[in-house]
Amino acid sequence: MPELPEVETILQSMKSVLEGQTLSSIDVNRLDLRLPFPSGLSTIPLHQPIIRLRRRAKYILIDFQHDWTILIHLGMSGRLFINHAGENLPPRKHEHLVLWTGNKCRIALVDPRRFGMVCLFQTKKEGQQPQLAHLGIEPLSSHFTVQALAEALATTRMPIKNALLDQRRIVGLGNIYVCEALFKAHIHPQRAANSLDKKEMKRLHGFIVEILQAAIAAGGSTLRDYVHTDGQPGAFQNLHLVYGREGECCPICLTKGRSVPVQRITQSSRSTFFCPHCQKNPHK
Ligand SMILES: [Zn+2]
Repeated sequence: MPELPEVETILQSMKSVLEGQTLSSIDVNRLDLRLPFPSGLSTIPLHQPIIRLRRRAKYILIDFQHDWTILIHLGMSGRLFINHAGENLPPRKHEHLVLWTGNKCRIALVDPRRFGMVCLFQTKKEGQQPQLAHLGIEPLSSHFTVQALAEALATTRMPIKNALLDQRRIVGLGNIYVCEALFKAHIHPQRAANSLDKKEMKRLHGFIVEILQAAIAAGGSTLRDYVHTDGQPGAFQNLHLVYGREGECCPICLTKGRSVPVQRITQSSRSTFFCPHCQKNPHK
């Protein structure tokens, strides 16, 4: 599933093609993905300048001049392919939505498993949009301070791993990045979210930002279905220290002459990878 860094990478590619342009046509090739395609999608946004592309959590938002916004979520397997004018490639399989710009770029949403979604709403009513209304803090925004992270985690005793995945507290941190940030911060994934002290909170905050920025710089991770808008895979998966490495030696322990295998446990039906030596649970 594309996570925040992948979506941010895709957003940057789309920005360069769409901002300032208009759409000359929108092909809607089926009735629905996870939700039905909105009525009016193929007509309302046409011929209005696109004033801005932005991201909220893992949603891509395309704002049009006359107060309309298209929301795109890539679900499990969604990808966006950009073809520039003159690149006459045959259509791909599972192209469910195609945006054509006035200068003849073609942006295709390909989603074989169809867990993605596309919505259309009036920008001024964004606060009422169900997908956006209850989202927590953006970890790459200036509002994301150590204090803000502490406040988002203060009200729950649920395991820190699960609290960091809770989109109502903090958005866009998927399973990979949570595992990696907790490992680097030396925090056991089963610790109660409200049990972190100030030093731990500061470390965790720093590594969340550092890992997301590193992943964006590397072009996002590539897992299963995800590739860039130009079809190139990202490179961050080569940098994972614990994620997907069950049984391999912890790289930090290894530098200190210890051979400690990375463990995998399941939390809320999702795999967690951690080092039992670097990430001790003081409450056990
Ligand atoms: Zn270790």
